[in-house]
Order: sequence, then structure tokens, then C-alpha cells
Amino acid sequence: MDINLNRVKKHIETLATFNATPGNGITRLSFTVEDRMARDYIKEEMSQIGLKVWEDGYSNLFGRREGKDPNSPVIMIGSHYDSVINGGPLDGVAGLVSALEILRVFEENNIENYYPIEIVAMNDEEGVRFGTGISNSRVMAGLMDEKELDNAKDKDGISLRKAMEEYGIVPDINNAKRPKGSIKTFVELHIEQGPILERNKKDIGLVETIVGLDKYEVTFKGKSGHAGTTPINNRKDALIAASEFILAVNRIVRGIGDGTVGTVGELSLSPNASNVIPGYVKLSVDIRSTKEENIKGVYKQLLKEGEYIQDKRNVDIELIHNLYIPPVNMSEENIVLMEKISQKLGYSYLRMNSGAGHDAMIMAEVAPSNLIFIPSKDGLSHHPDEWTDYEDIKKGIDLMLHTVIELSKIKQGKV
Ligand SMILES: [Zn+2]
Repeated sequence: MDINLNRVKKHIETLATFNATPGNGITRLSFTVEDRMARDYIKEEMSQIGLKVWEDGYSNLFGRREGKDPNSPVIMIGSHYDSVINGGPLDGVAGLVSALEILRVFEENNIENYYPIEIVAMNDEEGVRFGTGISNSRVMAGLMDEKELDNAKDKDGISLRKAMEEYGIVPDINNAKRPKGSIKTFVELHIEQGPILERNKKDIGLVETIVGLDKYEVTFKGKSGHAGTTPINNRKDALIAASEFILAVNRIVRGIGDGTVGTVGELSLSPNASNVIPGYVKLSVDIRSTKEENIKGVYKQLLKEGEYIQDKRNVDIELIHNLYIPPVNMSEENIVLMEKISQKLGYSYLRMNSGAGHDAMIMAEVAPSNLIFIPSKDGLSHHPDEWTDYEDIKKGIDLMLHTVIELSKIKQGKV
């Protein structure tokens, strides 16, 4: 019972041709022509395996292998196939083609599964086109508000709803919700998108926690004035205050430690002229940690720091929360199972965390979920040179195949 790496290679190479920017990385945005071509290919492959194929009211594409007990909860496997602009060929796709290959092997070898197994192909994880993201899984988890279909618009002003309709999907997100208990477990294979596995020379990453994310916008209101005539002791320079704040973000995050990271990645100032004191600055703060208390700790300290800088620099500082996603733990029971299987297969592995968000963290709302990482060459991702050697992809698929075999034969309540 072997996986066929040539088939995997063919899927990856074919999917890479459905691309809006040939020669300059992969660009496959949601509900576009490239998305449609990729979807038709995936549908065809699912049908050839003999799976039951359908789409839900968001655009989640499913291929189902019936279980011995068709009424029992499903094992769901899969990932996304949309990309960022000028991205790489494997982000998302690696997980999706793994799922296709696994059910192909089930079919070829007549492997019996008690639980039904469903592949899910998602097309709106990156969220580049509508500025949203992890949408397919949010819909399945019942976490998307109907209003988003009209409020989320692309750069041409086309709403998500309109784009879906043009694509041929009748939006019905309430129907796409998967009730708790209907999914037994969700497993996603994904490229690491970082350097840890490669540096540690490990074949597999077993993700324990997907980090939580706290994002806010900070504004600094001072007073602009002539750069030559305003005395240095009499200024309300918003950029000086912002600079102190940026350094404080780094200092506070380092102080908390424990793998906590913090980034100020976006900054705008006004009037942004060389001979005028900056009167207004807006910046973004992005804090990530595997522990909620660390994220909250950073926020608390930053509020205090803001008050201190506000008084010292005579400017008004305001913090507005944009987004908070708590850290999510993956299924420990499945991690232990995957450790055993890795040992049996002779593959080295590492328990690790994911610094990036994935559909698995949303699916964890509905069912115990897991994320398997395979190494990324030079830690590169969201880049045309993103790559993982086929031999490394094979190890990931092998682990996942045997995991799915185990999970799908265990009867509920018995281990
Ligand atoms: Zn991805």
C-alpha cells in the first residue's frame, strides 16, 4: 500500500497552471477564472476516485468516500487552493493533493473505513481578494455573518456575494454550517512556511498550538507646525511619540518572552513633509503568542506605556482593537497517535507551534483538529520560490494516510 508520488507531482504541476501571473509565482484568487479552472480539475479528480462530489452554500468543495456506517461523523481532510498574489505552488495545495492521494490509495487498496471520509477543497483561505480570509472554515463553523457577503468587496467594488453568484454558487451560508458532532476530526497537512523543520532536520511537524493573534490600530494626535520656527521644547510631535511606542512594543514583547512576538508593520503620518512637524501618525500592532495571558499582558503594558508617552510628549494616543483570535490547541490524542505512526514509519518529527493562522484553527471550533507540517525550503512561503522536495511531501502524506486509516476504523467511544 504505497502512495504514488507521480500522481502527486502531476496534481501540483497541473494546479500551478491555473494561474493569473505565469512566470511570476502563483496568483489564484477566490472566485476568479483561475479558481474555476482549478476547481473543475479537482472535481474531475474526485469523481475519478469514485467519490461523491458536491459543493455547499459557500463554495466548499467536498468529495466523500462513504463509510461502513454512513450516519456516523466524518473524518474531514483537506486544505485550500487559493493563493496570495505572486505566491508559491504549495501553500494549501500540498494539503489538498495529499487528501486526493490518500483517498485514491483507499480506493486502490479497498481499505475499509467505518467512518465516512470527506475531502474538503477550500478557495478563500488567504482572503486576498476580499480582505477577509479563512472564510470557508468560518462558514462551516458558523462563524461568518451573512452581512459579510455584501460588506466584503474587492478592489473593483465587487461584493463577495456578487462574485460568488457570477462564479455559479448560490450563497447560502446557513446551510453550509456543519453542526457540532457531525465531524469526528479534521486533519490538514500544510507546508510549514518557516525554517524550523529544515533547521532541525526533521521530516514532520506536529502542531500543538496555533498562536493567537491580537491586532490593533494606534493613532497619535499631536500638532503639526513649521520645522524651523517651532521651538524644540514646545512641540507636539506625533512621530516622536509613535517612535517611543514602537520601541516599547519590542521591549514589552521581549520582556514577556515565551515565544511571544510583536510587530509594527504599517505606519502612516501626516502631513508627511520634510519641513513640517508630524501632527498625526497611525500605526498597526500585531501581537502573537501561544498563550492568551501573554497576549493580554502585552496589551495591558502597552496601554500603560501609551498613557506615559501621551503625558510625556503631549499628544493624544488612542488604541483601537481590530481583531482578536485566541490561541487554539490541536487534538493531543491525535498528536500521540501521529507520533506513534511517525516512529513506525521511521520519520523524524517535532512537536511545534504554528505562528500562522490556518483553517484548522477555525475547524477546531467544530471538531478536534490537527495540523501536520512538512518542511519549507529556506523557510520561504508566499513567494514564487516556495518549495518542499517531493520526498518530503511523500513523508507527510504517508503519515497522514496511516493516521486517516487509524482514525477511520476506530469505532466511536472505543480506542
Ligand atoms: Zn495556507
